[in-house]
Amino acid sequence: MKPIVDMHTHTFISVCSHDETANVQNFIDKAAEVGIQVLGITNHCWDSRMPGASPWYAKQDIAWVKQIEKELPVDTKGIKLYIGIESEYCGMSDTLGISAEGAAQFDYVLIPHTHTHMKNFVMPRDPIYNQTAGVVEERMRAAFPEVSDRQIEKWMSMNRAADLEVIMGGKPEPDYPFLADFLCKSFVGLLNNEEFQKVLQTVPAIVAHPFNAVGYTLEQKGKMLELISDEKFIEMFTLMAEKGVGYDISVTNFKIEDPENCQMFRIIKLAKKCGVKFIFGTDTHSVAGLKNASRSTQIFELAGFDKEDLHPLCRDFVK
Ligand SMILES: [Zn+2]
Ligand SMILES: [Zn+2]
Repeated sequence: MKPIVDMHTHTFISVCSHDETANVQNFIDKAAEVGIQVLGITNHCWDSRMPGASPWYAKQDIAWVKQIEKELPVDTKGIKLYIGIESEYCGMSDTLGISAEGAAQFDYVLIPHTHTHMKNFVMPRDPIYNQTAGVVEERMRAAFPEVSDRQIEKWMSMNRAADLEVIMGGKPEPDYPFLADFLCKSFVGLLNNEEFQKVLQTVPAIVAHPFNAVGYTLEQKGKMLELISDEKFIEMFTLMAEKGVGYDISVTNFKIEDPENCQMFRIIKLAKKCGVKFIFGTDTHSVAGLKNASRSTQIFELAGFDKEDLHPLCRDFVK
């Protein structure tokens, strides 16, 4: 069995896609070329029924992502096509970006708990960043004695992590225990979120790229996961399986050439043991990125999966 599945993709409707050719027809054409058997399109979406959208999300409401319906081709070239969304879960405030009513308008929903690049929205700044910001703020006060404290604070609030790195001469090491703790709390927080229970009654729900802290390198992600024990993962994945929540394997985050030293392989094997069901996704934002979908076959084999480990949404369509 060689499943080639890509159920996490973004077209140009997602405002972070910069590929103007990323439309459904071009995705189908490329998917057929790559041999993809199941394709799911999951643009970013925040349901306006749910309070708390960031300015970036506010525009990408249900009506916005529904524009995709105008693009649906008649011929899907034998590929099973789903239209889903990738919504949001903000662990720091226990806020979900999709209501059950909104979710009902799609084939499935992906919900990430690890958009850890969205600071002060999905997760708080880590203590090391705050220290760094404190040093930069002091230097700014010294450099601009004539500028008011209020103005300096305003400047600081506009700084991104990358700006601070320039001033500090490099990236500070992340606070790994802080991040590992956040990953676990936000995962369990999502599974137990009140609105999420209603979503689960409505459509298949899948955690987008679990435990994959966006904005950090693969090495850094590995260091966070090393701090989480097998027992802790088993406890969390047992809850996931009990609730029937699926797992989105983010194929570009796996070290296929060195699976023994890849934390992502360790955790999907634990999830499999707990009875969790999986999909695969490239999380591409361009047509070209669909080529990575072939990695799903390799991960399926290296993790020792069989057909029963696949989520019902893709199980019956893979070969
Ligand atoms: Zn994501
Ligand atoms: Zn995505």
